[in-house]
Amino acid sequence: MLLTITYLGQNTTELGYLLFKNPARPQVVELSFGKAYVFYPEVSRERTTVALLLDVDPIGLSKRSGYDYVNDRPYVSSSLMSTALTKAFGTAMTGRGDFHQELADSRLNLSATVTMLPCRGNHQNLSAVFEPLGYEVEWESFTLDDQFHQWGQASYVNLTITGEVRLRDLLKHLYVLMPVFDAHKHYWVDSEEVDKLLRMGEGWLADHPMKQYITDRYLKRQRRLVNQAFEQLAAMSANDGDLIPTEAPEKPPRLNEVRLQAVLNQVKASGASTVIDLGCGEGNLLKLLVKDSQFTKITGVDVAHHALEKSSERLMLTDASESMQSRITLIQGSLTYRDARFSGYDTACVVEVIEHLDLGRLAAFERVLFEYARPRTIVVTTPNSEYNEIYGVESGHRHEDHRFEWTRAEFQEWAHTTAQRYGYTVAFLGVGDEDETCGTPTQMGVFTSDGNLEVTCA
Ligand code: SAH
Repeated sequence: MLLTITYLGQNTTELGYLLFKNPARPQVVELSFGKAYVFYPEVSRERTTVALLLDVDPIGLSKRSGYDYVNDRPYVSSSLMSTALTKAFGTAMTGRGDFHQELADSRLNLSATVTMLPCRGNHQNLSAVFEPLGYEVEWESFTLDDQFHQWGQASYVNLTITGEVRLRDLLKHLYVLMPVFDAHKHYWVDSEEVDKLLRMGEGWLADHPMKQYITDRYLKRQRRLVNQAFEQLAAMSANDGDLIPTEAPEKPPRLNEVRLQAVLNQVKASGASTVIDLGCGEGNLLKLLVKDSQFTKITGVDVAHHALEKSSERLMLTDASESMQSRITLIQGSLTYRDARFSGYDTACVVEVIEHLDLGRLAAFERVLFEYARPRTIVVTTPNSEYNEIYGVESGHRHEDHRFEWTRAEFQEWAHTTAQRYGYTVAFLGVGDEDETCGTPTQMGVFTSDGNLEVTCA
């Protein structure tokens, strides 16, 4: 992405002083995810342009983001640009102008162009968002391929906004609004982002007609955070722009932690003493189960040998006491083949696993678990595909390994049919931050055996 800011006027080389960046000297700004370059493609009395070019290091970025796409992907390109903006022009954003304070406090004839701004959804929203701030808005969008118009528009635009504004306001508007149009991927937002939004939005966001849209999208529709921001914006609007100091609430736990805790609660409530975790992966749930003395026999099953090795390592099984070793068993096996080792447990957990099975093998899995293993309680979780919209996953699945992802209606239909067929009753719970329309990111079904096994199909 490239951002340029042009100052038109009498003595425009002063832009260098306002930005604390000398036009004669190109500069490199080191960022944790790459580099940004600041240089001036044009400098004259009447017209001066500064450019901020972002060069993201994808390897560094992926190292920083870890493996869990939901929680750890910290930024997407447009928010990287916002970060670069504060790093490069942070002093100007505070409104400091030193010997040019009067100029820093004045409205200047400025325009900004953002090249390749990720922009999904309705491009008209660009006007709806920037015009109330006093800008004229122009954008150029592209068809994906000139020869194949049916492929539609690319999800990038070149955006230009022009107006009579203070430089610090222009920078703050860009900081908040560039990520608003980028709904591509989820990135981790927490209450720190609420603080940044309120700080950067001070004086203009509280009364913006699109404040709901801006807040929602900036905070990636994390309902709890949006509500938090809204309460504070409402207070700011009433207080004429004064920022209300707030105590930052604790960082919310990650979705997989929330999910495992929700599963653990159900397992405990089931009164189980023996538990089998089917598709245990690297043993996240097993680690929680071993800490609880309610559970006397704990077994993890996975088809992947390396996952079991990792589980064993994380549970420190090789160095564990004999009693611990006899309490925990790890089994390599597949959930789609009948296996006597799966029988004899009070409760079975199948956490984020069914979506890894081919739909054609689901019936085999149902029989293995509900007909042959037959624990009294079965806890199943799977992604709720309706929530993908909030993560910005517009087509395909959240994870490339997933063979399917179900809406709430689809999951509930499968669960009801399966429960009925094998003599279970099922209750549903949502896990994670709830969105009014899309529900929660994870959905859970808790099956309880009613003792009647009347298998109605072969
Ligand atoms: N339950 C774990 C891991 C979920 S990832 C957690 O919540 O952290 C899905 C896991 O299911 C992977 O470890 C994968 O190896 C395992 N898996 C996929 N298909 C399987 C099958 N047919 N039998 C057993 N395990 C399977």
